[in-house]
Amino acid sequence: MTLRQNLTYLFSDAGLDALRSFVDSTTLLAFDLDGTLAPIVADPSRMLVSNAIQEELAKLMEQTTVAVITGRGRTNAQAHLGMTPHFLIGNHGAEGLPGRKAYESEYLILANNWERQLRGMLACANGDGIVIENKGATVSVHYRASCDRAATRSHVLSVIELLSPPPRTISGKCVEDLVPATAPNKGDALQYLMKHLGYHKGFYIGDDKTDEDVFKLTGQQLFTVRVGIVGPSQAGYTLRSQQEVHKLLRDIAFLYLHHKSKR
Ligand SMILES: [Mg+2]
Repeated sequence: MTLRQNLTYLFSDAGLDALRSFVDSTTLLAFDLDGTLAPIVADPSRMLVSNAIQEELAKLMEQTTVAVITGRGRTNAQAHLGMTPHFLIGNHGAEGLPGRKAYESEYLILANNWERQLRGMLACANGDGIVIENKGATVSVHYRASCDRAATRSHVLSVIELLSPPPRTISGKCVEDLVPATAPNKGDALQYLMKHLGYHKGFYIGDDKTDEDVFKLTGQQLFTVRVGIVGPSQAGYTLRSQQEVHKLLRDIAFLYLHHKSKR
């Protein structure tokens, strides 16, 4: 496993050259949502994708297939996106992949089961400030409102360890996401989509550790970008902040128009 300490800045000459020679009509474009298409906000229910970003995504959808792959449930993500991509994959990859409805039904049963167990165990303990959110295929346990977040987190983790069957746990900011152990992660989801749709090349941009499941894929023709310089990553390129994503989308849309005019 190679963690790159010095990622190439995408808006460097080398980065832009690489982007220019990679992106074409055989490239599937995929995007994370929070922290990538929209800035992170203290209250996730207030996250909003700007009109400018929505417009660039719509332009890109005229050129190739556009997917959004997010940890949010699909319905929730759709409400914040303000536009409808060709594919909206929710719950970290567990929801929205074509041809996987039967698996999703199993995940719903698992999530309901975990929610019931959690409510039972957290009700008779010190569950102060804990919010359990059933997102369909996954369950989130939030503890942002807790007075002592460190103590509450360790309590939540000890309860999660008792769940049957055991979930895969993804730790976020004041939240633990419980995902079915066999559900696809974001990397699996992108690979599945590319194979299903017959794309040999994939572009993906994201900002947190769940996106590393895409960045670490090997044997794929992938162009990967990590938003924010946060230390080691397996992505190929980086942007300094979410504010640069709009310019990136505009540049990619320009590349498609340029390719077209050359044909
Ligand atoms: Mg994100």
